Amino acid sequence: MASASVSVELGFLEKRTPWKLQSKFFPSKFGGTPAWLRLNNLPNRSDILCKTCNKPLSFILQVYAPIQDIESAFHRTLFLFACVNGKCNPRNNNTNFVVFRNQLPRKNEIYSFEPPVYNEKLSLDPSASKYQPLCAICGCAASLKCSKCSEVDYCCEDHQDLDWKWNHKNVCGKESSECGTKKKNMVNKFLLPEYELCIETEELPSTTPEKSDTDKMEEYRQFMKSVKAPKEMQDMPLDDLDIIMKENDKAFNKFQKRIKLEPEQVLRYQREETPLWISAEHVPSAEDIPNCSCGAKRIFEFQIMPQLLSYISLDGNEDTVDWGTLAVYTCSKSCEQGIESYAREFIWKQDVSDNQQQ
Ligand SMILES: [Zn+2]
Ligand SMILES: [Zn+2]
Ligand SMILES: [Zn+2]
Ligand SMILES: [Zn+2]
Repeated sequence: MASASVSVELGFLEKRTPWKLQSKFFPSKFGGTPAWLRLNNLPNRSDILCKTCNKPLSFILQVYAPIQDIESAFHRTLFLFACVNGKCNPRNNNTNFVVFRNQLPRKNEIYSFEPPVYNEKLSLDPSASKYQPLCAICGCAASLKCSKCSEVDYCCEDHQDLDWKWNHKNVCGKESSECGTKKKNMVNKFLLPEYELCIETEELPSTTPEKSDTDKMEEYRQFMKSVKAPKEMQDMPLDDLDIIMKENDKAFNKFQKRIKLEPEQVLRYQREETPLWISAEHVPSAEDIPNCSCGAKRIFEFQIMPQLLSYISLDGNEDTVDWGTLAVYTCSKSCEQGIESYAREFIWKQDVSDNQQQ
């Protein structure tokens, strides 16, 4: 992805053969297990636990975003984890979202200097499971084993219990040689469905005709229905919406106008620029964005759009995580701490305005 350019890179989800989304190919992807960049020194379990329900966070997506001018960031990937339980994510609150940055120079001890060749048989060489045991459920670093057969690894007891219930109680102690086949048919309701995150440059029309107020209002109403707005707002009479709209209409109209050009977009990437806020409320000031632990300022890098929510709440579960937009801020120097380990970055969660609470 081009950095420091005026145009915005948009992300869309597309189905892709799973082996092409392995670490070896430096993918951008949504769901499934993380395709780790650095294959050892994976994040600690304690850094990927929900602070509210204490269960492992779900892997949401990763964005491959090298920075050409920084030698140590020839390969660079950002990883996002979150608790998808709605109860763990209050409005405008980022507590249970975690972003990691990891990067490697072109010459490194893990990957070849030359770009990878697409070949299914070699797709797992290299892979993180060669460096440490990985949890059979979530693909994160594992420290527990099945106490009966010692053949399956888990990151925590929670995932051990889930695997026992879904798969392992039927096979524990039997057919240990069939590990591979077991994996393919495995039940795993913890992971989100896997997609490739494809990137395209946003194309803006030269002129955008102005809309009438009635059209704008109808759009607003449709939008409120479509992105899981607070229930009270969805059924609100148009007169009440009108009052709300006067307060937030500028931010919202701008947001709406831009995403309408490409309604399927789930991500907007524009390093060093300003996010497209969905509301005039809960916009961070400079002091709200903490510096990187290296001391450098953090800058905006990409944002996740409400469209992504429809890929998370697939089972009709009402109480899943919600957001207006999620803005990710990363170290402006993309400092080298990401080389040795996974460095934590910052995320800002902005919800759709809910004036009824005021
Ligand atoms: Zn939680
Ligand atoms: Zn796990
Ligand atoms: Zn076992
Ligand atoms: Zn830094």
